[in-house]
Amino acid sequence: MLPDHPLVLHGGCNCRAIRYKVQVPARSQRPLNPFSDGQVPFPMVTTDHCNDCRRATGSILPTWICVPTSMMTCQLQPVSSSSSSSSTNQDARRGDDAAAPPSSPWVPAVELFKPGPDKDKYHVQFYQSSADITRTFCGRCGTNLTYFMTHGMGEGYPEIFDTILGTLDREDLEKDWMAPDRHCWWSCGIEWVQQLSNGGTVLPVHPTFKVNEFVE
Ligand SMILES: [Zn+2]
Repeated sequence: MLPDHPLVLHGGCNCRAIRYKVQVPARSQRPLNPFSDGQVPFPMVTTDHCNDCRRATGSILPTWICVPTSMMTCQLQPVSSSSSSSSTNQDARRGDDAAAPPSSPWVPAVELFKPGPDKDKYHVQFYQSSADITRTFCGRCGTNLTYFMTHGMGEGYPEIFDTILGTLDREDLEKDWMAPDRHCWWSCGIEWVQQLSNGGTVLPVHPTFKVNEFVE
């Protein structure tokens, strides 16, 4: 569970064409998830055992941070200014600080993470996985980013960008408070995945090799 104090989270796609920032206010100012008996504030962090999101993300256990759209801003590199993806990736591997050019302003994500007049200007691409649901991904590097329900979840439920937790910068992810608060769509789950994620199973640790190539 996120700490009670205000904090800022950063993240983005693998090639850094898309960056986002989540400005989380103090807990007393965070909206509560109406489906949690009023106990769980947004942003909520949850695993997702549903079939649709597993396929759409290609992850055996997608995990989301569910962010009120009002808390999220983004910084997008225009398609017209894109450098080659290979050099961008080399820079990005040195750390999570590499961002879009300083000339790109931070703007409310709600303006650009939904299809709109600027949709061809940036690398954000859209996939309508159903009539009511828009998923975003980076058209250059392919990173899945957000899930958005056009008509929302019903009365009392804030407008939310479910955001792939793995797109947060590592320095944010390393905080203990980023661990998922709960499992969603548990009844849809695959049994061995549930066993992996239920916290009750101790797994053997596979030997590491060439670890420096994978741990930045
Ligand atoms: Zn990208």
